Amino acid sequence: MEKAYQALKQYFGYDQFRPLQAEIISSIYEGKDALVLMPTGGGKSVCYQIPAITLPGTCVVVSPLISLMKDQVEGLCGNGVRAAFLNSSNSAKEQRAVEDRFFNGELDLLYVSPEKVISQGFISFLKSTPINLFAIDEAHCISAWGHDFRPEYTQLHFLKQSFPNVPVVALTATADKLTRTDIVSQLRLQDPAIYIASFDRPNLGLEVRPGQRRLEHIFDFINKRTGQPGIIYCLSRKSTEELAQKLAAKGIISACYHAGLADGERAKAQEDFIEDRVQVICATIAFGMGIDKSNVRWIIHYNLPKNLESFYQEIGRAGRDGAPADTLLFYSYHDVMVLQDILDKPESENKEIQLAKLDRMRQYAEALVCRRRILLNYFGEDFSDNCGKCDVCRNPPEYFDGTELAQKALSAVYRLREKVGMQMLIDILRGAGKKELLSQGYDQIKTYGAGRDLSAGEWQQHLSLLLNLGYIEIAHDQHHVLKLTPASKRVLFENEKVQLIRMKTLKDRQEQEKEKAQQVTVRQRTTGELFELLRQHRLKLARERGIPPYLIFSDATLEEMAAMKPLNESEMSRISGVGDFKLKEYGTDFIDLILDYVSQKGNTPQGSTYLITLEMFKSGLSVAEIAEKRQCAEITVYNHLAHLLEKGTAFNIDSIVSPAERKEIRKASKYLEQPVKLKALYELFDESVPYYKLKLAMAESRISSV
Ligand code: ADP
Ligand code: ZN
Repeated sequence: MEKAYQALKQYFGYDQFRPLQAEIISSIYEGKDALVLMPTGGGKSVCYQIPAITLPGTCVVVSPLISLMKDQVEGLCGNGVRAAFLNSSNSAKEQRAVEDRFFNGELDLLYVSPEKVISQGFISFLKSTPINLFAIDEAHCISAWGHDFRPEYTQLHFLKQSFPNVPVVALTATADKLTRTDIVSQLRLQDPAIYIASFDRPNLGLEVRPGQRRLEHIFDFINKRTGQPGIIYCLSRKSTEELAQKLAAKGIISACYHAGLADGERAKAQEDFIEDRVQVICATIAFGMGIDKSNVRWIIHYNLPKNLESFYQEIGRAGRDGAPADTLLFYSYHDVMVLQDILDKPESENKEIQLAKLDRMRQYAEALVCRRRILLNYFGEDFSDNCGKCDVCRNPPEYFDGTELAQKALSAVYRLREKVGMQMLIDILRGAGKKELLSQGYDQIKTYGAGRDLSAGEWQQHLSLLLNLGYIEIAHDQHHVLKLTPASKRVLFENEKVQLIRMKTLKDRQEQEKEKAQQVTVRQRTTGELFELLRQHRLKLARERGIPPYLIFSDATLEEMAAMKPLNESEMSRISGVGDFKLKEYGTDFIDLILDYVSQKGNTPQGSTYLITLEMFKSGLSVAEIAEKRQCAEITVYNHLAHLLEKGTAFNIDSIVSPAERKEIRKASKYLEQPVKLKALYELFDESVPYYKLKLAMAESRISSV
């Protein structure tokens, strides 16, 4: 296991394994098969990637989604791991190159699509190199019970048969008991160790708001989250388009995504979102499968999802990097009815189950107890504490005696002979003289206009609660009209007391959140500004390289940088998420930026770090000695000096790069495209002049040329 910890630090920059990761890895080291259930973002990949890197031979990963495969391989290569993929997107030439690398034992991980695995001759190809592990990702696809059944997966049993001594690990984020047994038997796993991680995602906030004035809430929500990428899930294709337009009209960069768009449009929307060119994506549930973007900071459900499984999977796409992320669900009874109508068709499969699941979803949305508790209990985990972080925990409901209010509503239902639906009842209570209402003579009943003092939205919410508490019923088979129940008769005729909940209007909520928000802004004033600079810098680097920003560093890593302000390489390497490869690739760049920030703010722990370096240099210490004393790499010392030169502080650098050399370098640089890139200069000199000399000479030439 020592090797495993070493690799975790060296390649991924993490110090600790998450729960179960170490156990899983150690069982793979023992050659055992395993089944791993972890929520999205739980850290499944590390479980097979570490054995892949540390064991001799190659690990073969079967993964169903081409886009995901590409993302994972890019991410791994960005960490200095030798990985490649084989699927239908490879050109013949690429394919041959990958096959050669595999054949020569130059790959730690080979990702393949299931189609590829079952193609002719693939087994003998696999036999050409020692294999240390098979990892079957998204293993629920093997089961017809699961929701993404892939027929090709069912043939994967031959892996175990052809390679009886190679361990197989199957991984998934969604698998009920039935699917679980299916995976084990279909893959022919031998006495597998089964690991089920907690499905809790403590970094995800949970909030439900009533579905009135959603747009207003959404603008407000996004405005508080400048530049943070997020997804809004809508029920219909049309509403994704409309919403994206409305957001755009408010200056929020957004795109829509649904199955009705042309392939090219869809791919573009997805790519723009992944690479942070678009902040908000308004999508149907078609969006999200196979997207590994770790810095999705929030999810909004514009409409109620069909069941808690889909809901949890969708919100699971936020905050995969472990940094805090917010989720917001809008709930209206209207949505429930729309979904009921969709599901309640003679031809729908498992209609009863689906309707029951929808009901659980509704109960969740209306719940007055800790939401995380409901979710985790639903997924079979015994979670008996209140989380303290969901909206119910943060703003516990305030009860009041709602008997009179309930009586008004129920007596109206009674007098209307249980013939009207929720909307009409509200109109009658509020005395809204609408045509249809008048033509039926509903304005003649005694309670017409008895509830004018409340808004339609407030009535909606109180009625939903009455419904939930069993004081009214909806006859779905009779055009959703409202019916009385035994409980409502007790309220009407026996004066039974009803406890209702004071509804929070947007304004109340804003008041309440203001205090919390103030605390947040204070925090942002100290780390937020630097975080923003780091984020912008990450974006710039990502654009230059044409890769998604989160593949450079995750939000969580940038947050830690902003808080810790590492000023040299050894400090930088202690930041979680900075492995050896990324330290080399991006370390000095980000250190420079932090140095800049810190020296401008004048809040370096030990005065200006540049000036300390300069003082030492002027006192005659060599660069190596300074690096030693300051516990940083020599390159950092050179960077400090170059920075000072660039900012106009002149001093003698003859001991590093002689006047003659400087002259040469300056002369040569004139032949290059301006502004001069050090790399180009380096190549111009046939790589014979070290970078630090070039950097200092150019830094100095910039001041002397102004
Ligand atoms: P999954 O495949 O289960 O959805 P991933 O393997 O993509 O999850 O991991 C989710 C995120 O968590 C990634 O950004 C990954 O780098 C990070 N992660 C994984 N293991 C650790 C760890 N031990 N410490 C910190 N971060 C981790
Ligand atoms: Zn809670």
